[in-house]
Amino acid sequence: MDCDDCVEKLYAFLDKELAPTERKEVAQHLADCGDCDDNFVFEARFLEVLRDCGTSEIAPAEVRKRIVERLRRDSPPSTL
Ligand SMILES: [Zn+2]
Repeated sequence: MDCDDCVEKLYAFLDKELAPTERKEVAQHLADCGDCDDNFVFEARFLEVLRDCGTSEIAPAEVRKRIVERLRRDSPPSTL
């Protein structure tokens, strides 16, 4: 698995929609790759915020953008 694959499967991974073999591959890549792990932590926090807002749906693009911007301000990723 490369980083593109990993990013593509991140949401499914977080939503626990992946098959066990795929979950294993993503988890393995996250353990090996600091960049994707940062991404994973970020997306996990993003989904937490969505749940706090009372929705488990993926937010509309505009809402998503605002949450992403707020999370970025709160904790700038060390890789940027
Ligand atoms: Zn990666």
